Amino acid sequence: MTDIPHALIRNALRKIWWERSKARREALKRQKVKGSQLWICEGCAQLIPRKHVDHIVPIGKTPGAKGSDADWNGFFDRLFCPSEGLQILCKACHDEKTKTDKQGIK
Ligand SMILES: [Zn+2]
Repeated sequence: MTDIPHALIRNALRKIWWERSKARREALKRQKVKGSQLWICEGCAQLIPRKHVDHIVPIGKTPGAKGSDADWNGFFDRLFCPSEGLQILCKACHDEKTKTDKQGIK
């Protein structure tokens, strides 16, 4: 059996999402302070110059990856969710969310 580079595939798909997702652009627009280069963090409501776009439902591992019980439809549904499924966060809020997500994956 071929050794599938799951992390590489996941990163490549995330890159496509990052570059092409309309939902991502909508979420950013929704939280942007008009006429500025600032966004409102949906976690702590602070104004932030550097923003993180978070999947509220974590996209998880790719199907077939070690410890994954996902299927491709579910994975793509989560990755390419509508803009309501995304939130704009500051680094602190995003780090905290990521920690919580990782606990859920295990
Ligand atoms: Zn925040």
